[in-house]
Amino acid sequence: MLWENIFRSLKPNQIVDGFTQINFAALRAKGIRHVICDADNTLTYGKWSLSLDNRNHAVKAVAAGWISALVILSNIVLESKRRRLRIANIAERLNGCEYHCAVYPHIKPSKEAFEAVFEKLPPDATYKNTAMIGDQLFTDIIGANNLGMYTIYVRPMAPEAPWMWPKRWAEEIVFALTNWRQNLT
Ligand SMILES: [Mg+2]
Repeated sequence: MLWENIFRSLKPNQIVDGFTQINFAALRAKGIRHVICDADNTLTYGKWSLSLDNRNHAVKAVAAGWISALVILSNIVLESKRRRLRIANIAERLNGCEYHCAVYPHIKPSKEAFEAVFEKLPPDATYKNTAMIGDQLFTDIIGANNLGMYTIYVRPMAPEAPWMWPKRWAEEIVFALTNWRQNLT
């Protein structure tokens, strides 16, 4: 069934209320060694402020050896120095982690966006041992699910601009039609 397939590729392996609720030690026990993470509204509140709690949670996971690295994958969509600088600045504050700014047409959820970020992960990274963390079902989650990665949906941190609302309504419809959110971790 078409709908079943669509829902399957939208379903995250985990749904959490916020980035700090992700248990990286437990992920490691599942065999997840690498992490790719969205920036806006996953790590940051809106577009600018990286939450200190999120920053500390990510840095601790790397320091403890639960994950090899956290690498940022952000859709900047249109090429711009300012947009790149913004993501670079977030990466800098995460102890200088690697990042990839995806530009149209190679943006999430396309395979090319993920392939580009894999080049910044250690050589042993595979789709199977890498998790994708993000706040959007239709970019972060579906793209990573289609490649067979482990996916974690994080509730968006901040209210958004009106142009994002239709995407969020579509997500709400998916959540209303499924019981995924009842298994909130
Ligand atoms: Mg986001």
